[in-house]
Formats: sequence, C-alpha cells, structure tokens
Amino acid sequence: MSSKDRDSNCIFCKIIAGEIPSQNVYKDNEVVAFKDINPSAPVHIMVVPVKHIVSLAAMTEKEMPIISKMTAAANKIARDFGLAEKGYRLVINSGPDGGQVVQHLHMHLLGGRVLKWEQ
Ligand code: 5GP
Ligand code: ZN
Repeated sequence: MSSKDRDSNCIFCKIIAGEIPSQNVYKDNEVVAFKDINPSAPVHIMVVPVKHIVSLAAMTEKEMPIISKMTAAANKIARDFGLAEKGYRLVINSGPDGGQVVQHLHMHLLGGRVLKWEQ
C-alpha cells in the first residue's frame, strides 16, 4: 500500500495494520471488519476500507466502488451473525453533524435487537 493510502495517525489504519488489537470478523484485499469497541447493539461491527478515506463526503467518484464492496462484506457478515432473517442496519456517519468521530470511512453494521430511529 502506498503511504498516501494510509494515515499514520489514524486509529482505524492502525487497527488494519494490526498495530492496535481488534476482534476481526472479516478481511479481504480491500475491506476489513471488526467489532466496535463500544457496541450500541448486540451485534455492532465496523466495516472499513483498507485504504484511508476520510469520510463519505470526501470520497471521489473513482473511490465509490468501495461502498459496494463494503456493503457486500456487511451482508456476508450479517448472514454469518444470523441477522439476515430478522434484519439489521447499515449506517455511515459523515462529518460533525452526522456524528462522525473517527476520520476513516466506516459503515456501522447494527443488529440483534429492534433498532429505533434516533434523530
Ligand atoms: P463514528 O461515530 O465515527 O461513526 O463511529 C466510530 C466508531 O468507532 C464508534 O462506534 C466507536 O465505538 C468505534 N471505535 C472507536 N475507537 C475504536 C477502537 O479503538 N477499536 C474499535 N474496535 N472500535 C473503535
Ligand atoms: Zn485511516
């Protein structure tokens, strides 16, 4: 990976590199997934691109196919965790008003309970 594909100060880049421990549940060449450290639901998984992309808002057109790969990985993980039938939620927070805290694109996979819509 080239140095611009990684940010040495980014917590998720460090997790992807194995420099910070995480409970990994999925990995391929472009997408990694691990359990959220502070889960909001019985299943709460972070699905992230290996490449450091700051946010949904910062994505280029060329980078957009990774969203589809993240979604495919999330669907597979949801099946693996037995969520497919009852349902689950995928969320991408972008920017301060969107509630984004970690500045590395990520999809929250939430399930295992009935989820309310929190505004
Ligand atoms: P955001 O609010 O940016 O959309 O979500 C960031 C998520 O990353 C939060 O749900 C938070 O609990 C999770 N998170 C932050 N730091 C760590 C960490 O070091 N390890 C793991 N596994 N999750 C983290
Ligand atoms: Zn990063």
